[in-house]
Amino acid sequence: MLTTSLLVLVIRGSTVVLLLFSAWLLQLGARWARVPDVGYGRAVMAVFFMSVSSLLVRAVVSTLATPLSAILEGILGVLAAWVVVRWCLRTTFGKAIMAWLPTLIASAVGAALAVVIIRPFLFEAFTSATNAMAPTILGRHLRSTCPACGAIGYISSAGIDEYSLAEELGICGTCLRASLMPIANKTRFTSDSLLAAKFLEPRRWDLIVFRNPEDGSTVYVKRLVGLPGEEVAIRDGDVWIDGARAEKPKEIAGLVYAADVFSNGATEWGPVTLRADEFFVLGDFSMRAKDSRLWIRGAPGHPPYAVPQSYLVGVVTHIYWPPSRWRVFR
Ligand SMILES: [Zn+2]
Repeated sequence: MLTTSLLVLVIRGSTVVLLLFSAWLLQLGARWARVPDVGYGRAVMAVFFMSVSSLLVRAVVSTLATPLSAILEGILGVLAAWVVVRWCLRTTFGKAIMAWLPTLIASAVGAALAVVIIRPFLFEAFTSATNAMAPTILGRHLRSTCPACGAIGYISSAGIDEYSLAEELGICGTCLRASLMPIANKTRFTSDSLLAAKFLEPRRWDLIVFRNPEDGSTVYVKRLVGLPGEEVAIRDGDVWIDGARAEKPKEIAGLVYAADVFSNGATEWGPVTLRADEFFVLGDFSMRAKDSRLWIRGAPGHPPYAVPQSYLVGVVTHIYWPPSRWRVFR
């Protein structure tokens, strides 16, 4: 896919450029610290091992799940870098630290590149705040078994501790049916981490990241089902656009959209008509999703069900973490 190629190009390109720049700075630092015989090749090797050590530190710290992980990662990362530089340059700790100092410029340039170019124009990383898009995108959740097909089912973990329930509504990862599933195990599984592209035009059924119309700041991910100017309704588990049933893509063909999450007996939601600058979004786990159907306050000047086009943050392209959940959407 084009977005994956671009992503690889961005990551590989910026990594190589920053690594070479960093090595040049390290060589300069070594000269300043009067460490003898530091050629560019040796500096590149040192910087390469510095990157590897920082990845290892990150991997180890992430398994600890402490609230101080960011600080711990920073401290351990710097210590590991010093050890690597000392070892590669065969020098003292004092001189290794002195030689390492200029490489901070490369780190600053890397951060600036991310803030000024990559995040606003290419890709931004997000973590799903809720489990409303399960099973396509998982938020914090519990795992259970689907009574219909026996496959893994996903239960939203929010509120599980307040009520000691024996079973709770979950959604199946295979048949996509939402049903009561046993809570046998309260282990929490983490949210998926995703990337959203800033340069893609959103299409129907895309997963989009947007600012919540109710408060204008919280960022959510949901499925885009209604486009500007369309009349949207939910009937018989399907989305209806301008009076016709909208055919779902095959990966979510089994999904049943709930017209009524409060079981008041309503079989239809809508129809509503979107203006020229408005979107309509739904969660895949629609019985447990707060989306266009349920918002009470809308964005200023818009009805409650509408996501103004100006609230769009990006179109989801990948799930990149955990690796077992890797997926390309666009
Ligand atoms: Zn199932």
